[in-house]
Amino acid sequence: MEKLSYERPIINKLNTGLMNKFGTRVDNTPVTHIDGVPVKKLIADFGSPCFVISERTIRETYRNAVRAFSTRYPKVQFAWSYKTNYLNAVCNVFHSEGSWAEVVSYFEYEKAMGNGVPGDKIIFNGPDKTARDLKIAVQNNSLIHIDHFDELYLLAEILKEESQKARVAIRVNMDTGVYPMWDRFGFNYENGTAWSAINKIMANSQMEMTGIHCHIGTYMMSTSSYAVATSKLCDLLKNIQQVHNVTLEYIDLGGGFATANTLRGSYLQGADVIPTIDDYAEVITSTILNYGFRPEQLPTLFLETGRALIDDAGYLLGSVIALKRLSDGRRATILDFGINILFTAFWYDHKVSPAQNFTSQSEDMVLYGPLCMNIDVVRENINLPLLNRGDHVVVHRVGAYNMTQWMQFIQMRPKVVMIDMQGMPHLIRNNESLQTITAHERMPDHLAQFNL
Ligand SMILES: *Cc1c(COP(=O)(O)O)cnc(C)c1O
Repeated sequence: MEKLSYERPIINKLNTGLMNKFGTRVDNTPVTHIDGVPVKKLIADFGSPCFVISERTIRETYRNAVRAFSTRYPKVQFAWSYKTNYLNAVCNVFHSEGSWAEVVSYFEYEKAMGNGVPGDKIIFNGPDKTARDLKIAVQNNSLIHIDHFDELYLLAEILKEESQKARVAIRVNMDTGVYPMWDRFGFNYENGTAWSAINKIMANSQMEMTGIHCHIGTYMMSTSSYAVATSKLCDLLKNIQQVHNVTLEYIDLGGGFATANTLRGSYLQGADVIPTIDDYAEVITSTILNYGFRPEQLPTLFLETGRALIDDAGYLLGSVIALKRLSDGRRATILDFGINILFTAFWYDHKVSPAQNFTSQSEDMVLYGPLCMNIDVVRENINLPLLNRGDHVVVHRVGAYNMTQWMQFIQMRPKVVMIDMQGMPHLIRNNESLQTITAHERMPDHLAQFNL
C-alpha cells in the first residue's frame, strides 16, 4: 500500500448551529475532464494557462435559445454579438447554426465579412461609423442601426452619391424601470427624440426603414424590463404604420440576458436568481403577440444575445504558482492567470474548481493572479481545498467578454482551444510571443545602441 503523504493539521473554527439556508459547507468536486478530455492533457498540450471552449455547449445553448423563442413566436432570427467573443472559430459555430452577425465597429464588420457572412445578414450597431464604414455597409446592403443624429445626417450625405437605398433602423433608449438607465446609445423614447429620428428617415427617399432596435442593458435580472422595452418598440411600430403607412420588417430586442455567473458580492448564487431563457422568451414574445398586430404584420423578432449564449462554454485552465500566509493569517493562493486575461473577475465571483482529487481539508482563501499589481485578484474570498504548488484549477463560465477584453499587460495572452463535437481539441488562437508583440514596435536609430 502506498504511504499516505503527510498533511499539516489546521484548526478550523466550528460554527455549530450557524447554518445559512443552504447548509453548512460548500462542497467542491474536482473537475478532471472537459467534454471528455483530461484537463491535465489539455495543460500538457497547450500550456498553462489556456482557455478552452466547448463547441458542444455552444451548440446546445444556442439550440435551446432558438427553441425557447421559436416555439412561442413564428419569426425569430438571432445575430451573434461579435464583441462578446469574436474568435473566428466561435463566430462560425454560431453562423453554422444559422445565426447572423451583429457588429459594433468596422473592425468587427470586416471580421464578419471575412468569415463569409453575407452583407445583408450583418447588423451594424454602435456609435462609431465613419463615412467609409457607412458607404461600404450601404453597398453591401447591411442593416445600419443609426445611433445619433450626426450619423443620420452623415448617412444622408453619403446617399446623395449612391444609387442604392440604405436599409436602416434606429436604436432606441428608454426607461424600462432599471437604473441607471442606458441613455447614451440611440434616440430616447420618452422625450420624443426617437420619433423625430423616425420622421427624418421617413422623409428621406433613399433610406428604407426596416426595423427598430434597442439594447437595454447587460446581465438584466428582471424580465419585466423586457416587457416594457418590447411594448415601447411596438408603440413605435404601430405609430409608423398609422402615420407613415409603412410596416417595419423587424423589431430587435438586443442582448442582455443574464448568465449563471454570480455577481460579485451577491449573497445568492447566480444560477438561483437569474431568469431562464424561457422566461425572457415568454415575456418578449407574448408582449408582441398580445399587442394587437394583424398576423401578417407581425415583425420578425431579432435577438443579439451575447453572454447568455457563450459564457457556459468557456473555461480557463491554470496552475498554482505559490501559497502564502498574509499578515492577517489568511491563506493566499497565487495562480498563473489574473485579471489580465480574466477581465470578468471584476464583475463576477467566478466558480473555481480544483482539477485533481484533494483531501477533505478546506479553508477560506484569497486567489491572486500573477501580476505585480495590487488589483490582480481573481477571488477575494473562496472556500477551496488546500491546493499545492503545481496543482491545476478550472475557472467556469468565462466564455463571454474575456477573449475580447483581455489585455497584454506584464504577461502574454495564452492559447485558446476548442473541443469539437467528437471530443477533439483544436487550437483556435495561438499564444502571443515576444516576436508577435515586438513586431509592432519600431526603434528610432538614435536609440538603437547604448553603453552601460
Ligand atoms: C454588447 C451588445 C450585445 C450583447 O449583449 P449581451 O449582454 O452580452 O447579451 C447586443 N447588442 C448590442 C448592441 C451590444 O452592444
